[in-house]
Amino acid sequence: MALSDHYLPETDLCNQFTQQEDYRMFQTSVSPGPYLDSNFTQVPTPIEETTVVSVSTVFFPGANGVEADLVLSSSDSVLFYVQSSIIIAACDTAFRSIANMPLSNKKLRNVILNIPDSSEVLNIILHMLYGTSCAQHSPAFDALITAVDRMPFYEISPKALIVPNTPLYTYLLSHAPLYPIQLYTLAGHHKLEALAIHTSSHLLAYPLANITDDTAQRIGAIYLKRLMNLHVNRLNALKEILLLPPHPHPPTKECGFGEQKKLTRAWALVSAYLAWESRPDLSTHSMQIAFGPVAERLTCQQCKGGVNSRIKDVIVQWISVKVSNTVYPLCAARYS
Ligand SMILES: [Zn+2]
Repeated sequence: MALSDHYLPETDLCNQFTQQEDYRMFQTSVSPGPYLDSNFTQVPTPIEETTVVSVSTVFFPGANGVEADLVLSSSDSVLFYVQSSIIIAACDTAFRSIANMPLSNKKLRNVILNIPDSSEVLNIILHMLYGTSCAQHSPAFDALITAVDRMPFYEISPKALIVPNTPLYTYLLSHAPLYPIQLYTLAGHHKLEALAIHTSSHLLAYPLANITDDTAQRIGAIYLKRLMNLHVNRLNALKEILLLPPHPHPPTKECGFGEQKKLTRAWALVSAYLAWESRPDLSTHSMQIAFGPVAERLTCQQCKGGVNSRIKDVIVQWISVKVSNTVYPLCAARYS
């Protein structure tokens, strides 16, 4: 027997708790203490041994010493006891699409709202609205994506709430090294500007040819263009840095113009290899390895000194380009 059948005869939208005694019994049966290390606890009710009630271990009755005035029931029948005032303070339109009215409406006190999403997804959304981190539950990355994607359905704006220095922003960004393109796609789709910028630095090694049509469509034209520009601009900067060969020295008996032309050709060959074969995430170590043999094979000390100083110069310039290794910030006035 499901909880809603037994304790709360009708769990449809906006039905008041009509069986107060049963509601109190249910409350007393909830004991989240020993289960705090898991997402949810399943508590056998005292009425019937076969009846099992699942309650969030974070959003349970009396959590933080404050009484809840609203219950959200996920699609897998886990109950979340929340304070409407906290949710309203974060987003005054939250769940309006489900309740058909703002949560501030007094008709919504002590009712159950059925949420057509899993407890894992609802848990992430509620943590965001409460300004707390869901990291303790280690939700799957896919659940994080789903949670953000579902927010507009509940009239919750990801763009307004997933901003730097908020727990969900920080937690999402922590996944950037493992899921850079997925996170950038999410950020582009929901116009999460800061998240897109910070994630893009993890996409320098990403082959843009691997972006599927579906992903490109989801990222959106502007954010896709910015990612393309990031790669193109860095490669252009690399070519420019490499273009200049080492300075020639005045001809000597051992090393004339002919010998120095050979050095220029060797430099051009290595530069071409680096510029055309490398990706925008080319490391300075790879540069040193590529140019190293050019200097080693030289017998003229002046040429050797010129090459070494040019290699140092190239590396310093490439490091300074790396400072701008993210997509450029959007002009807020144009795109907001
Ligand atoms: Zn020389």
